[in-house]
Amino acid sequence: MECFTYKEPYIEDGKKILEINVLPEKYCNFDCIFCPIGRSPHKIDTQKPFPNLDLSLNELDEMIKAHNPDLVFINSKGEALVNDSIEDIIRFIKSKNIKVRLLTNGYILGKKEYMDISNICDEVIGEIKVTSEKDFQKLQRPIESYTLKEHIENMNLFNKQYKGTFILEITIIKGYNDDDESIEKLKEIIQTISPDKLLVVRIDDEIFQKKLGVSDERFEYISNELLTCSNDYKNR
Ligand code: SF4
Repeated sequence: MECFTYKEPYIEDGKKILEINVLPEKYCNFDCIFCPIGRSPHKIDTQKPFPNLDLSLNELDEMIKAHNPDLVFINSKGEALVNDSIEDIIRFIKSKNIKVRLLTNGYILGKKEYMDISNICDEVIGEIKVTSEKDFQKLQRPIESYTLKEHIENMNLFNKQYKGTFILEITIIKGYNDDDESIEKLKEIIQTISPDKLLVVRIDDEIFQKKLGVSDERFEYISNELLTCSNDYKNR
């Protein structure tokens, strides 16, 4: 049985995107309380093998032939980099002259082996969801010894040497990073990581939206503040 799963291809900025999950079940180094995939039974940050790579690559080949995408977006059930075939998967897609976008929470991007693999991708998305160590531990429940400081530093290290497009996705969470002090901290994080592109999103999962979703008005205000800060910084 193949272990990859796919979303229906869609158009984004005129380009056809094929979204793929390369994990058979959730494997992540975090266990976020608002994770749309559910709890993390396997909290890991080292690579592990998964069965049926050949079958899965054959199926991917068929999907590429059928849909002819401009970009394959690796958006997995957790941290895609822990699949020990991730480099082969990325190189397989690139061999078809198709661009690759990789979503990671960004924590392990500072490690040489993951940095090298991510460098093959045309676009990498890293994530920030909190602004304090306390909230990092409480909301994201990472592997023991992980810190928010390291999380930011790892993305900074990665982006300093990355030649592709680094996208920072910031999630605004009611009661945690939607106050004025947090907005200032988020601006500092943006300046430290210095992404090529900033995405500001909010919790949209139905189950968590009620408790952790910010209002349209507040979200618009925060988005403008952060996007302006990001553009100002880039234009310097
Ligand atoms: S980093 Fe993403 S996949 Fe991992 S637990 Fe958090 S929300 Fe889920």
